[in-house]
Amino acid sequence: MSDTLVRIKRAVLAGCYTFSEKASLEMEVDCLSKRLHITACPTCGSDQIRVVVCDLERKHQDHVYMVPDVTFYECPVCGEKVFDREAMLKIEAYSPAYRTERERISA
Ligand SMILES: [Zn+2]
Repeated sequence: MSDTLVRIKRAVLAGCYTFSEKASLEMEVDCLSKRLHITACPTCGSDQIRVVVCDLERKHQDHVYMVPDVTFYECPVCGEKVFDREAMLKIEAYSPAYRTERERISA
């Protein structure tokens, strides 16, 4: 009897594990599909727009700062840059403006 219970328990646990793993995979796929996908430039309509990964130079007031390895869309025709949420978060993380904000909040 206890053997059976243990087996049921293991099966449930195994089932739970499989389920949660599957759920997290589905969430990942869902998340990926929600990532920005652009095939035409929002500014000029060119289909030449493509994903680039490069260091980004940003300016905040008189302070120039670099954000390394940012992934974003860049249009070679009009120079339009499109940042998805992940890129924006990364830029924010490096931005002195947001850093000041955080310091003010934590102070
Ligand atoms: Zn363009």
